[in-house]
Amino acid sequence: MNQSFETVWDNCLKIIKDNVSLQSFKTWFEPIKPVKLNSNVLTIEVPSQFFYEWLEEHYVTLLRKTIKRELGNDARLEYSIVIENSSGGSNPYTINIPTFNTGTAKNPEVSLPINVGSSIKNPFIIPGLKKVNIDSQLNPNYNFDSFVEGDCNRLARSAGFAVASKPGGTAFNPLVIYGGVGLGKTHLAQAIGNQIKLNFNNKTVLYVSSEKFANQFIDALKSNAINDFIHFYQLIDILIIDDIQFFANKIKTQDIFFHIFNHLHQSGKQLVLTSDRAPKDLEGMEERLISRFKWGLSADLQLPDFETRVAILEKKMYADGIELPREIIEFVAYNINTNVRELEGALISLLAQSSLNKKEVDLDLAKKIIKNFVKGISREVSIDFIQKTVCEHFNVQADKLKEKTRKRAIVQARQLSMYLAKNMTKNSLKLIGKHFGGRDHSTVIHSCQAIQNLIDTDEEFKDSVHEIQKKIQLSLS
Ligand code: ADP
Ligand code: MG
Repeated sequence: MNQSFETVWDNCLKIIKDNVSLQSFKTWFEPIKPVKLNSNVLTIEVPSQFFYEWLEEHYVTLLRKTIKRELGNDARLEYSIVIENSSGGSNPYTINIPTFNTGTAKNPEVSLPINVGSSIKNPFIIPGLKKVNIDSQLNPNYNFDSFVEGDCNRLARSAGFAVASKPGGTAFNPLVIYGGVGLGKTHLAQAIGNQIKLNFNNKTVLYVSSEKFANQFIDALKSNAINDFIHFYQLIDILIIDDIQFFANKIKTQDIFFHIFNHLHQSGKQLVLTSDRAPKDLEGMEERLISRFKWGLSADLQLPDFETRVAILEKKMYADGIELPREIIEFVAYNINTNVRELEGALISLLAQSSLNKKEVDLDLAKKIIKNFVKGISREVSIDFIQKTVCEHFNVQADKLKEKTRKRAIVQARQLSMYLAKNMTKNSLKLIGKHFGGRDHSTVIHSCQAIQNLIDTDEEFKDSVHEIQKKIQLSLS
């Protein structure tokens, strides 16, 4: 066998790509680099220990099969794991606070009192309110139970869970959770904090937004209390800082945070950070901070897929003791594909409207509300696109849908396309009929009923419908 390791790996990737979701492929296989091939042993380089463990846990069978297919039955796979280190070779614990060089800053190993002594000002304590314990500032509703797991968040969630069972004791320190607005960063970060409080009641957990942190810092500066500020933060066992992108261009805040970060990290304390983008893409952030963010694990949250959106809505309704017909939930989940916050918002306005008008929530009301809700946000699929996707799935010619053919496969594709056009677009029945060779609206109604019956009675058919819907939905996101 004279193939190069690149070719072998390339071939493997082709097979793998067909066997995993696109998202998993991007997350778990694209970052892998093939490094060598020694007779039948292929070595691949993975970015971290965690990455390796994840592959072994979730993809070992697929990897094994694929490699054997490429290299024969004795083929073996070896991993080479990149050990992340501080880049640039500088001492990671050098403390450098040019503007605010305090006594403690020169000696990071100084041991700190376990309780907040009276001499240290707790920036969270409202003046006049005597409180010695540090309140963690967590919202108990943000926990792992209420966080729905899906492909979109599996890595972040499981890394978060690992951190919660062993704060400071995993390779994920810091754990950086990043992703767009409304995708669950705050929820997950707080879930970690809440879980740690459950698991270890002697640990001091603190959740703080970076904005609050920055403001406290400014206050401390003004009142000459920088030492207290630093001391306070050095007492925390698990420090969760939300939205660190807010530190951008705030040089002094970054300096102080750098100092606190180093101290905590060095003492084996856990840091959990969230950001609206990957650490490497943070602008206006000091390089040495970014390099520290990369020490642990950065895990992203992506847009939940349709099933996860349905599950989130269901969980939410269950928590609030609400019941809605499945078709409404699915309708909302299809149409709100921006983020989870919007999804929840749509559900809330739906319920509000229904109670305001003393009207049951039905599909018509849902359509009306969602239409207002997603104005300008969500694009709509076209009937043509639905027809094309359905026909591809059933392997029939799209233009046959407009003809009079009564062949079973075509009739079914036609009826399903009508059904999807009714559920996924805002077209009238009349207009839908027009798209199918000028059929009238009663034909469309009949088709929708026929498909609904099939969905209700035939699991397999229902699955294909879901798959097609997902495909169509994907084209929108
Ligand atoms: P971010 O901090 O990324 O902007 P949030 O954590 O504030 O987003 O999430 C927005 C809303 O969506 C919150 O109400 C949160 O509970 C909910 N949410 C996000 N992701 C999930 C999920 N996977 N399961 C359940 N609820 C979620
Ligand atoms: Mg947030």
